[in-house]
Amino acid sequence: MTTTGATEIVGRGNRDGARLFRQWFAELNDTAENGGQAAYVFVMGSLAEILRVFDLPMVFPEINSLQTAVRRIAHEYLNEAEDYGYSPDICGYVKADVALQLRGGDHPMGLIPKPTVAVLTNACNTYIKWAEIWERMYHVPVFTLDVPGTRMAGGQTWAGDQDFENDHRYVVAQLKELIALCEDVTGRRFDIDRFRDVLQNASRMNRSWKRVLELNRNRPSLFNAVTDGTVYLGVANGFKGTEEGSRYFEELVEEMEFKAANHIGTLTEEQYRLIFVGVPCYPIFRRFNEMFTEWGGTFPTSTYLLFASGGTNHGFEYDLNRPIESLAEGLLISVRDAMDNMFYQDQVLVKMIDDYAIDGVVYHPIKSCRTVSTGLADNRRAVMASRDVATLFIESDMMDRRVVSEAQLKNRIDAYFEGLASRKRRLAESVS
Ligand code: SF4
Repeated sequence: MTTTGATEIVGRGNRDGARLFRQWFAELNDTAENGGQAAYVFVMGSLAEILRVFDLPMVFPEINSLQTAVRRIAHEYLNEAEDYGYSPDICGYVKADVALQLRGGDHPMGLIPKPTVAVLTNACNTYIKWAEIWERMYHVPVFTLDVPGTRMAGGQTWAGDQDFENDHRYVVAQLKELIALCEDVTGRRFDIDRFRDVLQNASRMNRSWKRVLELNRNRPSLFNAVTDGTVYLGVANGFKGTEEGSRYFEELVEEMEFKAANHIGTLTEEQYRLIFVGVPCYPIFRRFNEMFTEWGGTFPTSTYLLFASGGTNHGFEYDLNRPIESLAEGLLISVRDAMDNMFYQDQVLVKMIDDYAIDGVVYHPIKSCRTVSTGLADNRRAVMASRDVATLFIESDMMDRRVVSEAQLKNRIDAYFEGLASRKRRLAESVS
C-alpha cells in the first residue's frame, strides 16, 4: 500500500466514528425538532435488533451523559439535578440526564427527543430506577427485559443445557411482549424480513468487534482500549443492526490488520501493556490517558470494552431461520457476558492477562457507579494471588470533577510506573 493509502486507512476508525456520531446526533436533533418518536435504551442490552424494525431512533442516555463530561460541562448538569433534589451519591449519568430532561433535551451535541418508550434490561439495577424517572415525567411505557444471570460463579450455561433452555424460553416470551408493545406504540406491524436484515447486520458487527479485540493481542497494541475504544463503543451501540455500523466494523478490522502487518502501534514505543478496569475518567479524559502514555503505557484491553458493548465481544451470529429464538439466545449469552464482566471480573482479568501478555492492571473504581466499582479491592487480591502482575488502584469519577484530583492521580500513576520500571529491570537482570 502507498503512503497515501496508509494515511487513509490508519486512524480511519476514529475519523469515521466521529462522523457517524455527529450524524447520529443530527438525526436525534431532527427527531426532537419534528416531535418524532424515540426509544430510550441502555448500552447493556439495547434491543436495537427489535427497535430498528420499527424505525424508532434510539437515545442512549448513558452516552449523552458521558458526552457532557468529555466536553467538560457535566458539573453544570450535575449541580442542576442536585439542586432539584437528587443525592450527590447516585450515578452521575442519571443526574446529568435528569438535568437534560429539565432543560427540555438541551445537549451540547443537539436537541435530544423525549421518549415514546423506554427499554431496559436488568444488567444494572440503576437502569430500573432511572426508567421510573421517565415514566413519572412523561407517562411512557417502560419495558424491562429480565435476563437470568449466571448462577455458577462466572460459568455460563449453554444451549442444550436444561437451565439454559428454561431461561431461553423465558427470554423468547419477553421478546414477543416487546414486539407487541412496539406495534402498539408505533401503530406498525412487525416485519419479519426487515428483522432478518437487521439481525444479519448485527451479526456482521458482532463478528468484527470480536476480531478487532483479538487483533489487539498484537505487540505493539494497535489501538488504545480507553481512548480509541470509547469511539468504537459509541458506534457499536449507536449503529447496531445497521448497514453503516456493520461496514464501519468491517473496515475497522481491515485497519487493524493493516496496522498489525506494518507494525504500526498506538504508541511509537510501547513499554507496558495494561488492562483498564472500570469506567474511564471522562472529566479529564485526554489528560488521564496521557498520564499513562507518557510512560510508554497503553491499554490493549479493558473490561469496559466488554460490558459497555453489551457483550458484543462474544461475536454471536444469529440464525436467520429462527430469528426471534436466535435473538433470545444471543441476548442470554451477550447480556450475561456483560454482567459477568462486571461481577466476575477476576476470572475475566486472569484470562486477559494471559491472552494479551499484560504487565499490569489498573483498577479505577468511581464514586458514582457502584455497579462496576463494588468489590474491586477483593477482585484485585484474587488477581494478584493468581498472576504476578503489578496493580494500581486509583479512585475518581466518570462524571463528577469535584472528586477528580489530577495532581493526586498523577502522583499515584508516576509511582506505579517507577515500580513497573524497577520490576522490568530486575526481571532483565535475572535473565542475563
Ligand atoms: S452501570 Fe454504573 S454508570 Fe451505568 S447506569 Fe449503572 S450505575 Fe450508572
